[in-house]
Amino acid sequence: MPLSVIPRRGTLLHGPRIAAFKLVSARLVGSVPRLQARVADLNNAIDSNNTNSIPPSTFNSMPIREARPPTMVRPVVTALPQNRDEFWRKVPVWRDVSAREFLSHAWSLYKFLHAVLPDEVPYDKCSSRTQTRDEFIQDVFEGITAATMSVRMTPYILSRINWRDPRHDPIVRQFLPLKSRMIPDHPELTLDSLHEEADSPVKGLVHRYPDKALFLPTSVCPTYCTFCTRSYAVGADTETVHKASLKPGRRRWEEAFAYMASQPQLQDIVVSGGDAYYLQPNQLQEIGERLIAMPNIQRFRLASKGLAVAPGRVLDDADGWIDALIGLARKARRAGKAMAWHTHFNHPNEISWVTEAAGQRLFEEGVMVRNQSVLLRGVNDDVETMAALIRGLADNKIFPYYVYQCDMVKSVEHLRTPLQTILDLEARIRGSIAGFMMPSFVVDLPGGGGKRLACSFESYDRATGVSQYTAPAVTGRDKENKVYKYYDPVDLLPKDTDGGCVDGG
Ligand code: SF4
Repeated sequence: MPLSVIPRRGTLLHGPRIAAFKLVSARLVGSVPRLQARVADLNNAIDSNNTNSIPPSTFNSMPIREARPPTMVRPVVTALPQNRDEFWRKVPVWRDVSAREFLSHAWSLYKFLHAVLPDEVPYDKCSSRTQTRDEFIQDVFEGITAATMSVRMTPYILSRINWRDPRHDPIVRQFLPLKSRMIPDHPELTLDSLHEEADSPVKGLVHRYPDKALFLPTSVCPTYCTFCTRSYAVGADTETVHKASLKPGRRRWEEAFAYMASQPQLQDIVVSGGDAYYLQPNQLQEIGERLIAMPNIQRFRLASKGLAVAPGRVLDDADGWIDALIGLARKARRAGKAMAWHTHFNHPNEISWVTEAAGQRLFEEGVMVRNQSVLLRGVNDDVETMAALIRGLADNKIFPYYVYQCDMVKSVEHLRTPLQTILDLEARIRGSIAGFMMPSFVVDLPGGGGKRLACSFESYDRATGVSQYTAPAVTGRDKENKVYKYYDPVDLLPKDTDGGCVDGG
């Protein structure tokens, strides 16, 4: 199982200054005992002096679940030097890590979870059932196999989790997939549910509204959300999805810039991804300056979850990224153009004193910050939590801009709510905070209809869970007259609601 929990600087873009724990999953998952057995195979091999007969590691050569005799397995590492420098032992917390552990992709995630979890993990909200530590870890590993997104989390976000009860932690629910939670996908969902690729005149540039386009310069993020709308492209390949990767590239970027400059009606660009935190400072600067220089572009937004998952970077004076961002905001203001940072908080637990200090710095530097939350079952789908999130953001000078109905994406049916939930939340929260701090509660219509206020449906049949919308402002592909449908999760249709004690999905 290629999994790692390796504190390292990012590698894909030559290392933005996020010392991110990188929990990267790829192809292999098996039971924990088998996983340990495979690591043991590797241990034995490395411990022997015959490095040319090293049996397979737990890398990409075979699924751990397919335990085979060592002689049958294609080795990934064919030779190791006799005098190996165990350089990682210089890192104090890895002083006791052997070569065999260090070379195993499985080691880091397993070790991390093993270290932070209690012996017994509460399974349901009634606390009538528990999972052992190893059962929970196995649940995670099997979830990774079924998920569409790799696992990557920052030290900040790992430290905001209640590891005594991880199954019910709102941050775990967003970033660590548990197989036991997953339920079948809705039959109407598709991988690229918003039809972004179909609406892209240039690879990585989605043009759906007359005056606005979405530029995707990268497909890497500091953390990967299990419910990512863009799971067709973002992150590493997984067992279930071969990604339409959008790596930063001169030719692709130039084609996107040329398209943006050639469309006089385009005034507003969202730079997303992936995540702008994973752009090098000079790349961020270049994108901003190119947009500022285009006479047709009046506004641009940089989308990054970084403020929610690694806010310390905003306070790091040695980091060029934040300087580049602040410098761009100044240049944009001088040019009479509006620049904003759009970030992505989903739960009040993501806000800490570090967030407060970062929000204050951005406020002092004149950087407008807006937030786009996703409504997620068991995370923020109750009035108390959503209201606390909105107020917490407002208190930190982060404008609560949108709350999205969770998109119909693969493997996260357990995180979706019925449309009724978002309608109820808006009805209950509106009026409890100043109107300019009240987010719009929206549905991004499956099929590329764009964002519509959730309450603006043409019809909503609560028994079947089907809501219908029109989207007169979107353009192209006969969209203006189209009727778009959103489907509530099947398991929460009225007939299935029994009100019993459940795990929360
Ligand atoms: S930060 Fe955004 S783009 Fe990245 S994984 Fe999360 S939802 Fe997807």
